Amino acid sequence: MTKQTKLFKGIASALALTASVSAWAVEDQDFSSMQMQGVEQVEVKVDLEGAAQRLSQAVQFPTISNQDRSDFDEEAFNNYHDFLVESYPLVHKTLKRELVGDPRPFSLIYTWEGKDPSLPPAVFMAHQDVVPIAEESRDQWEVEPFSGEIKDGYIWGRGSLDDKNQIHAILEATEMKIKEGFQPERTILFVFGHDEEVGGPEGAKHAADIIEQRYDKIAFVIDESAPLIPGVFPGIRDNTALIGIAQKGYVSLEIAINGIGGHSSQPAGESNIVALAKAVEKVEAAQFPYKIHDAVRYQYRFMGPELPEDQQPMYKAVAYGENDSISDLEQKFIDVMSQNQVTRAMLHTTTAVTMFNAGIKDNVLPPAATAVVNFRPMPGDTPEVIIEHVKKAIGDERITVRDISASTPATNVADPNGEGYKMLEKTIRQTWGNDLIVSPFFVIGGSDSKHFQARDFAPDVYTITALQLENVKEFEGFHGVNERILVDEYGRSIGFFYKLMDNLENL
Ligand SMILES: [Zn+2]
Repeated sequence: MTKQTKLFKGIASALALTASVSAWAVEDQDFSSMQMQGVEQVEVKVDLEGAAQRLSQAVQFPTISNQDRSDFDEEAFNNYHDFLVESYPLVHKTLKRELVGDPRPFSLIYTWEGKDPSLPPAVFMAHQDVVPIAEESRDQWEVEPFSGEIKDGYIWGRGSLDDKNQIHAILEATEMKIKEGFQPERTILFVFGHDEEVGGPEGAKHAADIIEQRYDKIAFVIDESAPLIPGVFPGIRDNTALIGIAQKGYVSLEIAINGIGGHSSQPAGESNIVALAKAVEKVEAAQFPYKIHDAVRYQYRFMGPELPEDQQPMYKAVAYGENDSISDLEQKFIDVMSQNQVTRAMLHTTTAVTMFNAGIKDNVLPPAATAVVNFRPMPGDTPEVIIEHVKKAIGDERITVRDISASTPATNVADPNGEGYKMLEKTIRQTWGNDLIVSPFFVIGGSDSKHFQARDFAPDVYTITALQLENVKEFEGFHGVNERILVDEYGRSIGFFYKLMDNLENL
């Protein structure tokens, strides 16, 4: 899809209008609450003790993704796979299991054949790998990070929140369902990547290739993102469930100079280090312009009516604004959001200088110097666009620019007015009740599902970590110290996937 059609599609469905968007003034739009009413909470009975034991054991496999990709523990992954087979016998008797990935086949695709093969499948995603434990933080852990200890009502350890909890919640729910004689109407696929924490170039990317060859269309994808947390959304104290509907892209460029070195006793005019430093400074100064993404407009269409009333005219202007112009109220929104580094990242392609290498000895002028700049692109900012932008900013023929990443573009936007979103909101309310606000949002990071969502056969990817955290502090366990999950909450997470399988029958 071209940029224009995508933007157009976004606006059109946002306003449920066609070409006559501009005939409607922002003031005429409805800005009442979009929250779903009348959903009854349902409790799902699970074998919580057994499930907690299994997640505890899962945490004990150190399936780490290191930045250095040669440092890869095949045995940890193989043992983890064996453990899954032993722990979920009905799943492994009923579903087809494949090991995929290039060059290393450690990602898992499970296929649960549906009764009606003509229906486009649903995909449930999660990842097996975890981030390493930073040595300098080890003494801050209250338990051994890979012990999987169960104490004080929590399962502790790396991967208990990110993201083995989701793998196991899905498998627990499936095991229960098969035991009850359930077979889904539409085929359900599970994709459990092995390198999500380094962008998924080996695992999820190839899983998406394989699945794209087999199916014309995917109806619904769910993957991890933010958990439910009270106060996670600025301006709202209440409990909030944010559903990711779009993800930014990923591009890393190496910026280099290759010139003549020399002896430090007789330096020439400008050293390579200074020439490169100047170039990098120019790149950082040439920030990409701010714009309001369709996913951000959707976010405020849902969230805006729940925010303080005096702010609502601004949020309404954002929710219904047009992409080819910026009103005063939208400009005010941009001014406010760009003050904070998190919300600023929603507004443009970010530029982060992450590496700088030059020199090997105190009395040698290095012949070369390199730096790496990482970009998280907005839609439309392809690697080519970014390289052009960088070259123009530098304006120095001596400096070379090269894409060194397994780049991914920004994704499509999932439909927040579609049946998939509604089904998800219903499942959230069935699991956690109605004392919460549900809203779509624009994910400034990304997970394995971006490999699906960036392609037109699977645009309707919704991301949420199906878990209620007690407070914002608990969120720090993600990639940090003392990662842990409440056992009771893990039970609800299993119930969530169980109900989602029921609700999928009516999608
Ligand atoms: Zn994760």
